[in-house]
Amino acid sequence: MSEPLTGPAFLDLLLRSERLDVEAFRANQLRLLERLCRDAASFVDHYNQSLRPLFANGNPHMGEFLAAAWQDIAPVSKADILKNPKAFHSRSRRREATEFAESHTSGSSGEPFYYRKSILVNQATTTVANRAFDHFDLDRSGDLADIRVLLAGPETGQDRNGEKTWNFSPDSGTHHFFEIRRPVEEQWRWLKAVAPKYLLTYPSNLRRLARCARADPDHGVQLAACIASAEILPPDVEDLIRSVFDAPIINIYGLREFGHVATSCPQTGDLHVSADVTMIEILDEAGKPVEPGEIGEVVATSFYNYAMPFIRYATGDFAELGGSCPCGRILPVLKRILGRRRNQFTLTGGRIVWPIVELGELTELFPISDYQIIQSEAARFEFHYLGATDGEMLDHDAVAAYIRQRLASDLHIDFVLQEAIIPSGYAKQERYISRLNS
Ligand SMILES: [Zn+2]
Repeated sequence: MSEPLTGPAFLDLLLRSERLDVEAFRANQLRLLERLCRDAASFVDHYNQSLRPLFANGNPHMGEFLAAAWQDIAPVSKADILKNPKAFHSRSRRREATEFAESHTSGSSGEPFYYRKSILVNQATTTVANRAFDHFDLDRSGDLADIRVLLAGPETGQDRNGEKTWNFSPDSGTHHFFEIRRPVEEQWRWLKAVAPKYLLTYPSNLRRLARCARADPDHGVQLAACIASAEILPPDVEDLIRSVFDAPIINIYGLREFGHVATSCPQTGDLHVSADVTMIEILDEAGKPVEPGEIGEVVATSFYNYAMPFIRYATGDFAELGGSCPCGRILPVLKRILGRRRNQFTLTGGRIVWPIVELGELTELFPISDYQIIQSEAARFEFHYLGATDGEMLDHDAVAAYIRQRLASDLHIDFVLQEAIIPSGYAKQERYISRLNS
């Protein structure tokens, strides 16, 4: 019970745990949950109160663990933690609690959020991320080009070549970094010079780079796979990458406070949650678990963060729960990530819709290469778009009729032709933004 969760045996168990049967997997989760909750209830002020129902006589030291009371534990939001962060810091003397890194989220959707993450979380999430790479038979000796926001570095666009390797293999290829806020033409020149086997970046940036490739037929970039992260993956990007690079997309869902959370299934494209490291629940407005096919908020529990435990943490992301996967892996399935509350539209009369579901992919229906729809009032929208590359004009009436038919007949839509779609923050692009739900 007090053995630290570390070392090669721990990593080996993680690598194998997706092959356990359902009962053994669940038993493993419960064992990790009990260990974490006993420690949190004993040494973290907030959980000292909130986790009492989990223990007979409310006693985390001696009382039996009452897993059936899990649904009674109130989820915690970022706002709750921001009110009193210290109430979430652990005084436990376990190595898992004392060895941690401090970090913060970007603050792209509010004030920066400072948190502690046990070193163990990084070990565990890196291990299951590597396990997911195996699902796709990635060649670990290949180089990875990683285009993202480089927070620490100056915006010089310099290649932070060879700083670290991108996987566990002793023969790991080089991990090349480049700044996503540099112009796409510059990114494309850099990519051609690096000539990596794998490219990791945001879906909206994959789309831009694929268009550069299409306009540059003799580019010589031979990608074996693209890895998409940090944004919702729209279906057109998957098709575009396949047609331009003849490469599949591996979709990754992660949370800064948790690290890697889920990776797409090579067979279905749905997301498999690494639930042996981060337990995910999808809860409805009333806090009840949703059924497969239903949408709810992603509520996450990290089994390995003892320094600042996140137990039933309401992430603010919404997802559609999936059922069992035909590939046979027992890792739970999310059909898709839909975004945050600001990516919903609340229409006249209070009806709430997910435009990503209702509208589908408009670049496939109309002569536009990209777009963004912004809701300013219940029935008032701005449609920002980039024109088609062949100069075909957009029929505004046809687009408005389509959107009205899908969402509501009373909508007023203003069309705005743009030079570029403005990212919403830290270079992340969101297709649908409601000013009412922000
Ligand atoms: Zn699967």
